[in-house]
Amino acid sequence: MDLIFLGPPGAGKGTQARWIIEEFKTPQISTGDIIRAAIRDNTPLGAEFKSYTDAGKLVPDDLVNRMVDDRLKRDDCQGGFLLDGFPRTVAQAEALDGMLAKAGRKLNHVLLLEVDDAVLVERITGRRSDPDTGNVYHIKFNPPPADIADRLVQRSDDTEDVLRQRLDEYHSKTAPLIPFYEGKGYLRRIEGVGTPEDIRDRLFGVLKG
Ligand code: AMP
Repeated sequence: MDLIFLGPPGAGKGTQARWIIEEFKTPQISTGDIIRAAIRDNTPLGAEFKSYTDAGKLVPDDLVNRMVDDRLKRDDCQGGFLLDGFPRTVAQAEALDGMLAKAGRKLNHVLLLEVDDAVLVERITGRRSDPDTGNVYHIKFNPPPADIADRLVQRSDDTEDVLRQRLDEYHSKTAPLIPFYEGKGYLRRIEGVGTPEDIRDRLFGVLKG
C-alpha cells in the first residue's frame, strides 16, 4: 500500500507508524528523521536544515522533494511505503503526484490524525526519546523505566516556543492538503485522541476495511 500520514506535530504519527510498518511490512519514510540524521552527521545539507528546524520552519520544498524522490526509487519502496511528515505543502503534494505518476503508482490512503492544538502542546513538550533505541516516551503519559531515564533527550524543536511556530507552519502550509486530498478521494480522518492502542485500532480499521 502507498500511504501518507498527515497531521500536526505531536499527533502520534511516529508512534502509529511503528505499528503500521510492522503489520503491513512497508518502510516508513520520515522526512523529519532523514533531516535529523543529516544534521547529526554534519553533512553539507545538515547545517542548512538546522537553521530551519531550530526555528520551527519548513525546509524549502525543492530540497525535501529531491530527498523523497531518491528515497522512493529504492528497492524497499517498490511494494509500498508509509510517508510520515511528507508532503507538508501543496507544492510537495504536487511533486509527489508527479513522482508517483512517473512510476505508474497511485496513493491508497492519506491518513489524517486529528488532534486539537492544546493537546499537542502538552504532548510535545513532555516528549523524550531514547537515543539508543529510538523509543519515544512522555514524562507524564508514558514515563520511561527509571534505569534509562537519565539518557533520554528532548528534541531541540520540542520546546514550547518552537512548537508554536511549527503549529503555525502546519495550519498555514500543511492544512491546505486536507481539502487537496479530500477532493481526490484519498483522505481518511482518524480521531487522534485516546490511548495509542485505541488509535491504532481505528487506523487498522481503515487500512483493513
Ligand atoms: P518532523 O519530525 O516531521 O516534525 O519534522 C521536523 C522538522 O523537519 C520540521 O519542523 C521541518 O523543519 C523539517 N521537515 C520535516 N519534513 C519536512 C517537509 N516535508 N517539508 C519541509 N520541512 C520538513
